Amino acid sequence: MKSILVVLLALGIQLAVGQDKPFAFQNTTIKPGERKSFSVTIKAPNGDTTFIPITVLHGKSKGPVLGLIAGIHGYEYPPIMALQELPNKIDPEKLRGTIIMVRIANVNAFFKRSVFYNPADGKNLNRVFPGNKAGTITECIAHTITTEVISRCDYLVDIHAGDASEDLQPYVGFYTCGKQFSTARKMADALGFPWVIGSDNVPTPGNTKYCSAEAVSRGIPTVAIEYGKLGHVTSEEAGFISARLMNMMRTMEWYDGVPQKYSPPVEIKARTYIEAEHTGIFYPNFKSGALIRKGTLLGTITDPFNNTIQEILSPIDGFIIYMTVTPPITKGETIFSLGSYPNSSIQREN
Ligand SMILES: [Zn+2]
Repeated sequence: MKSILVVLLALGIQLAVGQDKPFAFQNTTIKPGERKSFSVTIKAPNGDTTFIPITVLHGKSKGPVLGLIAGIHGYEYPPIMALQELPNKIDPEKLRGTIIMVRIANVNAFFKRSVFYNPADGKNLNRVFPGNKAGTITECIAHTITTEVISRCDYLVDIHAGDASEDLQPYVGFYTCGKQFSTARKMADALGFPWVIGSDNVPTPGNTKYCSAEAVSRGIPTVAIEYGKLGHVTSEEAGFISARLMNMMRTMEWYDGVPQKYSPPVEIKARTYIEAEHTGIFYPNFKSGALIRKGTLLGTITDPFNNTIQEILSPIDGFIIYMTVTPPITKGETIFSLGSYPNSSIQREN
């Protein structure tokens, strides 16, 4: 028997250990092998209320707790639609550990079709972590996600897309700080996206602002997905995200099945952000994914009388990761996120 175990371990095959304990989420108990969906009600001190639709899958075998979060931004549809289909694709009998899925983190923004902000208080949920239960409704949502989801996770994936005004290239982001990094990098590679982007920022505990930064500040291996753009979604896009999440779970040995190996992603280094210096009408000269040279005219901002008030030149040789492509632009908004290649000889078809 011992020799069989040695052979299995040598082959990288893990023996599943049965789960006999239920998983509790507030008042809901999920038994091993069960999938349960429920709404969590949130009330702010000023009387505003909302809810978060959650699904928990509790595996038949022991393993880690994985958090999957969609809809931090309610106009980013591919992640939300991916988490509509994913629960039924995962068989809890084949799952090692537990998955907490936040299907739509910001339902107010989703149902009101609000870009970036929660219309109830005008706040961006991905700027208020870890949240505050004595604050506004968006801060209360962040507090609930922090205390009920992130604090219970061993791994986290925060799923985003290009919002209604954003054209972007699919990529997986992670933080390069701490012990979580090597595992986060493994998760990112298993998702099989064309690009990955590491951030050297070290989140400040208690003032993390971003959902993924809150998890990283707790040492939780975390990746953030960006997939889809312009507030648009197809069933193929939703299916792509859910299939890649399944592949990540198989690669990490949290779910039965043989993972697919994708070619290694290109790592984009040194991000550069360009902000609008004026409020006006934006005319872009490029799309996301374009290779650009230092000094290239990336776009123009005019006033409402069609007079040019800002010409935007690229400060670097690089690549457009994401950009605003719709006409309205407000002073201080990010218009371009640019990346530098690790190897300047890399070329790419657009
Ligand atoms: Zn987002």
